[in-house]
Amino acid sequence: MTSRKDYHRQYGIERYQVYKRLGVCAQCRKRDARPGMTTCRECRDGVLSKSDSILQAQRRRYHRRKDKGQCVRCKAPALGGYSVCEKCRAVQAEYKRAAKKRRAA
Ligand SMILES: [Zn+2]
Ligand SMILES: [Zn+2]
Repeated sequence: MTSRKDYHRQYGIERYQVYKRLGVCAQCRKRDARPGMTTCRECRDGVLSKSDSILQAQRRRYHRRKDKGQCVRCKAPALGGYSVCEKCRAVQAEYKRAAKKRRAA
């Protein structure tokens, strides 16, 4: 039996191989990779747009907290089986309810 973590790692590797084969940058997946490389020049040089790097930092933080069993929003202990704590889950539920209402209106 493979754990969820293994699955994600495997998925990441496979995706990486696909981009590599296609000659597409495995980092940004937008630009062509440089010949013989898996990333484009921009990614290779580390020239990322600000929003991209913020997004990546958020993603890293999210996974770091999730791995530790912390709420991905506020770092409080997460509820079992969830990526957020009880308080943030209630907030999310409230958001969802409000969004539903907006759509219905
Ligand atoms: Zn790139
Ligand atoms: Zn929280």
